[in-house]
Amino acid sequence: MQRIFAEKALTADGWQSDITITVNTDGMIDSISKTRTAQAERVGILLPAPGNLHSHAFQRAMAGMTEHKSPDPHDNFWTWREMMYRFLDHLTPEDVESITAFAQMEMLEAGYAAVGEFHYLHHQPDGQSYADIAEIAKRIIAAAGNTGIGLTMLPVYYERGGCDNRPLTGGQRRFGNELESFARLVDGIGKYSGYRAADSVTGIAPHSLRAVSADSLQQLAQMLPRAPLHMHIAEQIAEVEEVRAVYGARPVEWLLANQAVDARWCLIHCTHMTAHETKALARSRAIAGLCPVTEANLGDGIFNGTGFVESGGQFGIGSDSNIRISLSEELRQLEYSQRLRDHARAVLARHNMSCGRLLFEEAAHGSAQALGRNSGMIEIGRIADLLALDVNSVALAGCEGDEILDSYIFAGDDSLVTDVWSAGRHVVRENRHIEHEKITANYRRTMTDLRSKL
Ligand SMILES: [Zn+2]
Repeated sequence: MQRIFAEKALTADGWQSDITITVNTDGMIDSISKTRTAQAERVGILLPAPGNLHSHAFQRAMAGMTEHKSPDPHDNFWTWREMMYRFLDHLTPEDVESITAFAQMEMLEAGYAAVGEFHYLHHQPDGQSYADIAEIAKRIIAAAGNTGIGLTMLPVYYERGGCDNRPLTGGQRRFGNELESFARLVDGIGKYSGYRAADSVTGIAPHSLRAVSADSLQQLAQMLPRAPLHMHIAEQIAEVEEVRAVYGARPVEWLLANQAVDARWCLIHCTHMTAHETKALARSRAIAGLCPVTEANLGDGIFNGTGFVESGGQFGIGSDSNIRISLSEELRQLEYSQRLRDHARAVLARHNMSCGRLLFEEAAHGSAQALGRNSGMIEIGRIADLLALDVNSVALAGCEGDEILDSYIFAGDDSLVTDVWSAGRHVVRENRHIEHEKITANYRRTMTDLRSKL
């Protein structure tokens, strides 16, 4: 049993002072009380640690490689994707494990306790599967075993190059499966002996309406009937147009009309929706998986956060391309994108809730639902996903209640995060992951070697 004493904590009942939380050996919150005990780990400000609901870990290694002008006069998402495919020609399973461990370490140090890994890099560069079809999936699971991050593994189904059923080419060949081989992959993940943490979850991720046919989508939705279902949707205008040309409806519109979209679903991006789609998605209880830093980096567009929140929609945050891994920056970027578009301030604040409080609690609750994880609140019986902020930081001087979250997100950054527990695993202490040096040295070797091959 661990004991954590917090000077201030944001619990399911609101802000409390001087409380002790006990965490049992299963990584669950066992009690919350006003008692003080000498044996407790002492922290300043304790918060429920959100999960990162959308990551492609290997893309961390490409960060900074695509910021120059390409020969294409209109450099955009699609030229970035070409670069990503070329990069894939060089990645080995060992590289993926090293990069993933580094990205997960950064996620933990940023305050995320868990990650949904939207995993589509399955095969060798020529498209042949490895001797074990789950080889790379197991590398990701092994990395999570080393970093201690809570893992929701989301194996991705990818079967075609576009809505017109064109075949996969080039770098895409590493992603492809048929339903039969995909079932073997999912089975291999579930049976992997390294995948034993009690808080591990396996979901299913049909890549997108571009990459998955309507018939396959129907079968994938039934494959693990209660598990999380994640899908990219409406990130790019060209994608919306491609879907509309073939399906006669916009992506979100079509999906809501043709699938029983409910709380199991997490729709990644949802950048381009009409007002009607925005309201309908909010009513569905699906989570909108927003990735504000990546969406800005790729020039995707601006999500209709105001309309979605006003309609009662729930969202969570993902680091997606991992161009930069920062929880506070994702939340700030989301709010600032709305302000820049609307020429307004405090756009996502509600009458009884500041911007910081709304952003932070949505991220915590939305990611818990999307990752199939009983976390997101400091409450007895929940998974102990916790983060502590430095109460002595000058950014938080004199702050009380929701001002703590506003100052952390808008005036501070991730350097305020002193400690993180993932399902009770105390892996970040004094601002650093407990294996920081080793994981970083390994990643440095991997990157030096990879860059020499490009
Ligand atoms: Zn993505």
